Amino acid sequence: GAKSDGRNAYQFYSSELNTASLGELLLENQLRGALDRGELLLYYQPKVSAASGRIDGAEALLRWHHPELGMLAPGRFVPAAEEAGLIVPIGEWVLRTACRQLRAWLDAGIEPVSVAVNLSAQQFAHQDLVGLVESVLAETGLPAGLLELELTETMLMRDVDRATEVLSRLRALGVRLSIDDFGTGYSSLAYLKRFEVDVLKIDRSFVHDIRSDGADGKIAAAVIALAHSLGQQVVAEGVETEYQRDYLARHRCDVFQGYLFGRPMPGEDLFARLEAEQPA
Ligand code: C2E
Ligand code: MG
Ligand code: MG
Ligand code: MG
Repeated sequence: GAKSDGRNAYQFYSSELNTASLGELLLENQLRGALDRGELLLYYQPKVSAASGRIDGAEALLRWHHPELGMLAPGRFVPAAEEAGLIVPIGEWVLRTACRQLRAWLDAGIEPVSVAVNLSAQQFAHQDLVGLVESVLAETGLPAGLLELELTETMLMRDVDRATEVLSRLRALGVRLSIDDFGTGYSSLAYLKRFEVDVLKIDRSFVHDIRSDGADGKIAAAVIALAHSLGQQVVAEGVETEYQRDYLARHRCDVFQGYLFGRPMPGEDLFARLEAEQPA
């Protein structure tokens, strides 16, 4: 069928010609139209409160339903989108779609939860990000406090003065700010205080090292203590085992995200879980 033909063609080109770059060029060209063809969609991964055991938010994660290659994770196409400058319109679509979706769930009667959206370095650097966020909130009627924007250390460190200003303007809108993949970038601890964010997300590489047989996990515990001392909430990414969850809970991690609590899923599946958790 068309599906396997497409995959074979892709493999043929990848092996015969120089490659990654051709594969990327093909994808990049197709990506230009993907948004208009409606091939992009958002999955949602639950974030679960350690205190209540209930979902208190979800992270919106981009997917590309490619006609031949099937469902692609962002690792396959976001770098190309960044290079081509396409991440700016795509990122705008992500923000608007996530806010609309949460608004629709709230209108359907679920208890308030938050939605987190990943920003790319380009969006952060080039766009009138503050104006965009402001207009999307106005247009969707989503309370600002229910939107969380995920940034990375690397993004913030590119231009510290500008980042500080953009963060404070975003905070003034009332949105929540988080640092994603914390511990993998190059920010110095001094900047943690300067960049006023609400949430630190411990990168899943540190969570992964929390095993029943080792002394690892010390870093995760230290990050939790550090964040709390700065008045920040802590989300642990990539929680896959009960052991990891229990260890993190003992060290007062606030929120868990990971396969143990749910993989990224279509919106209707997350909505079903939110509905099931509603108090009777
Ligand atoms: P991220 O923001 O750190 O998102 C978490 C990633 O970890 C997701 O991968 C998620 O599927 C994966 N994950 C969650 N729980 C577990 C677990 O228990 N074990 C393991 N092994 N993995 C887990 P995904 O969806 O492939 O996204 C990868 C990255 O792509 C994201 O990392 C984010 O940096 C980027 N991304 C996703 N959506 C967007 C978007 O809309 N815009 C931009 N600019 N980047 C995005
Ligand atoms: Mg993220
Ligand atoms: Mg992350
Ligand atoms: Mg990560």
